[in-house]
Amino acid sequence: MNAIAQHLQKFKSELNPFNCQLIAVSKTYTSEIVKQAYDAGQIHFGENKVQEMVQKQEQLPKEINWHLIGHLQTNKVKYIAPFVHLIHAVDSLKLLAEINKEAKKCNRIIACLLQIYIAQEETKFGLSFAEAQQLLESDALKTFENISIAGFMGMATNTSNVAQIKSEFESLQLFATRMKEKIQLPNVALRHLSMGMSGDYKIALAAGSTMVRIGSAIFGSR
Ligand SMILES: *Cc1c(COP(=O)(O)O)cnc(C)c1O
Repeated sequence: MNAIAQHLQKFKSELNPFNCQLIAVSKTYTSEIVKQAYDAGQIHFGENKVQEMVQKQEQLPKEINWHLIGHLQTNKVKYIAPFVHLIHAVDSLKLLAEINKEAKKCNRIIACLLQIYIAQEETKFGLSFAEAQQLLESDALKTFENISIAGFMGMATNTSNVAQIKSEFESLQLFATRMKEKIQLPNVALRHLSMGMSGDYKIALAAGSTMVRIGSAIFGSR
């Protein structure tokens, strides 16, 4: 077994008891390397750039489920709408409207997560809890028949302070629980929490993550 297959195996057994999905984050790695992970049984892959994801989608087996995990610009939605499996980082109603429009053209329903800003850092995208609730309660959302909101995504602060990371993840879990009770719409089913990367996934698992996005711990450092 090669190193990638070994790492995947390790994560599989570690995530199994938590019923958590592994998204192998393949950004910056070549299609040949992604193929090694695919051959080892991995079918969920995450990319943070539209162009790179489209290129790999063309080169690799169509069975792969592609997750867009990075910031998405409105004018690029059309390139991924025909095939994307899940968009993790939706952070505005305008973007959601565009995804709905392009999904309709493809006769698809595209699953989306709302990215929530939970870190104490200036650089990260996302909605505040209040903005996310506003979006979920908006009249516009009710008219979007070609998207479904499947949950939330959050990135914790890049810090060695475990207590801080834990409280950031837990705040998102708490918010998700409240929204699940509050929002009852045909196009909203809040079952996923995309939280945790190579450095903090153990903390995310303990806080109820259902999808971890792991790159370097599988493929090696970039
Ligand atoms: C790169 C990236 C990851 C994976 O990071 P690693 O530290 O390599 O595991 C997860 N989520 C997002 C949004 C990313 O951009």
